[in-house]
Amino acid sequence: MKDCLFCKIVRGEIPSEKLYEDDEVLAFRDINPAAPVHILVIPKEHIDGADTLTSSHEGLIAKLILTVQRLAEEQKLVQGWRIVTNIREHGGQTVRHLHFHLLGGGQLGDFGLK
Ligand code: AMP
Ligand code: ZN
Repeated sequence: MKDCLFCKIVRGEIPSEKLYEDDEVLAFRDINPAAPVHILVIPKEHIDGADTLTSSHEGLIAKLILTVQRLAEEQKLVQGWRIVTNIREHGGQTVRHLHFHLLGGGQLGDFGLK
């Protein structure tokens, strides 16, 4: 996707602090961290969000979640961590390219309606 921010990060057109990369998955630090550890894990393939996933993505989703888990181990988040994926406007999605937030490094708050 030409104008997608995260596709531009995948292509290296926008710099990022990469923590993991393979042929299907990229992980990089969030530019505006909401917790001491805030990492984004994305598929290199453009997928709009969790609302557009199909059964063809089963293997990819497992790989993305396992990547988040491995990063949590590497970051030594032994006291706990959180995976978040926001969907569309009410879900707070600002970048329309599927991504999982890995949040940790301190006690995380509740979430719900504003
Ligand atoms: P969401 O609001 O769930 O769509 O998450 C998008 C995330 O992307 C936010 O947490 C932003 O801080 C983060 N973000 C936006 N631009 C960049 C960038 N250039 N590099 C890293 N993270 C970014
Ligand atoms: Zn994209």
